[in-house]
Amino acid sequence: MLRLAIPNKGRLHDEARSLLADAGLEVRAASDRALVASLGGEFEGIFVRAQDIPELVADGSADAGITGWDLVQEADRGLVSQLDLGFGRCRLVVAAREESGIRSLDDLTEGTRVATVFPHVTARFFAAREKSVTLVPVSGAVEAAPHLGIADVILDLTSSGSTLRVNGLREVATVLESTARLVVAGDDRAPTGDRRQALDELVAALRSVLAGRDQRYVMANVPRTRLDEVRRILPGISGPTVIDVLNGGEKVAVHAVCPAAGIYRTLNALKAIGAEGILVTRIERLLA
Ligand code: AMP
Repeated sequence: MLRLAIPNKGRLHDEARSLLADAGLEVRAASDRALVASLGGEFEGIFVRAQDIPELVADGSADAGITGWDLVQEADRGLVSQLDLGFGRCRLVVAAREESGIRSLDDLTEGTRVATVFPHVTARFFAAREKSVTLVPVSGAVEAAPHLGIADVILDLTSSGSTLRVNGLREVATVLESTARLVVAGDDRAPTGDRRQALDELVAALRSVLAGRDQRYVMANVPRTRLDEVRRILPGISGPTVIDVLNGGEKVAVHAVCPAAGIYRTLNALKAIGAEGILVTRIERLLA
């Protein structure tokens, strides 16, 4: 059995579950509150808080885990990322009150008080810049700390920056960028043998699902005389596939994989050269 630690709630839970399901690992739990559930085959999920996952993977209670890179850095247990899962994107930033006059790290004086739920990341960040700061560990509501007078700046997570702004705070520096990762132990607790093979297969499956999510499969009937333009509009992975259409007259069918971002431009370009019957479908998996 390969034990995979998965966030049981919070921001990372839904996306982790749906990514696993898309890769064929559907949670088969007796109840929503189950702590352990089969994921099919040789995989078993253990459902815990995202912040506990680095510890469980580091001490060998789980063979691998899905959690935020920020939490992995905070735990500082030498875990290794096997795959960037793309979701849970956020940044750890230093922020100060708008009216504080602090605009960059240079404005921080000796002993500046930093409120955070990331004491280890904070200590490492300032030590690397040879700044001596005073840590103010808090367990939540970090944004309130400067207003309460218990800290001068905060080091906290943000994605759009709007929560910081609403709380009258200004970003001063980015400490790290984070996304959810699939992680394993960096020492001899990392899976070996059959479990390593199962993990490699899982990584390949997840990678193919992620690759497919950014792409679409485009099909269209185009005039045979415009195939040179089709090659330019739909380069595909190794050129578009061209298929004869029975009774298609001057038209042939072309099929190609195409980036989802900005696909409307591709479709407009196809229409402009006389394409008909354009179909766009999602791709479940893409193994390049
Ligand atoms: P949870 O506390 O279980 O909701 O999970 C928090 C984790 O979600 C963080 O450690 C990050 O990895 C990730 N995350 C993504 N966006 C944000 C955000 N805007 N604020 C806080 N955490 C975020």
